[in-house]
Amino acid sequence: MSDEVARLRETVAALHAELVRYNLVAWTAGNVSARVPGRDLMVIKPSGVSYDDLRPGNMVVCDLDGVVVEGDLAPSSDTAAHAYVYRAMPDVGGVVHTHSGYATAWAACGESIPCHLTAQADEFGGEIPIGPFALIGGDDIGKGIVATLTGHRSPAVLMRNHGVFTIGRTARDAVKAAVMCEDVARTAHLARTLGDPVPIAAEDIDSLYARYQNVYGQTTIPSARR
Ligand SMILES: [Zn+2]
Repeated sequence: MSDEVARLRETVAALHAELVRYNLVAWTAGNVSARVPGRDLMVIKPSGVSYDDLRPGNMVVCDLDGVVVEGDLAPSSDTAAHAYVYRAMPDVGGVVHTHSGYATAWAACGESIPCHLTAQADEFGGEIPIGPFALIGGDDIGKGIVATLTGHRSPAVLMRNHGVFTIGRTARDAVKAAVMCEDVARTAHLARTLGDPVPIAAEDIDSLYARYQNVYGQTTIPSARR
């Protein structure tokens, strides 16, 4: 297949190591996918393969109905959810799913994570929302993700009683959102155990979000590094 697919096989295989590095996954749970730009295809993790054994060559290429078009292994059992998101959200280039512990604890309680931290305002623009309960298989999970995140600033949704799905412009962006979601969920939990976390005013959340999304990070001029 194309050079682009070959490149994305490498990227998606490598990004799975980040889920392990940040302690977001147990055993073979969790998955990353990337849309193949300009094609109705995605690259996704194979089902039931150990993280240690993931390689560019055993990633699976599917169409956006979840049908395998290249690869010897069955794709992730969450393929239908990823495919639904790509079909419904054309700007999304990457999707990640984990059962990371702290964020999934909030999902188990059926609670959105309120915005008590500037880092959360930066990354998520407010609360991290709770999505509906949905059984695996079919389009219910995908529908729940899209219904919750459409028009929402947050790139992460806590699917009730299940876990975290994140989206991004690229697969790497979606992995970053999964890492930051777990970090926020952990701190929010710790804050609750200490007392009553203090809300951030809506206008301050807006200002933090605007600055981070538009200004923060490195510009193309190295000397302007922030
Ligand atoms: Zn799951």
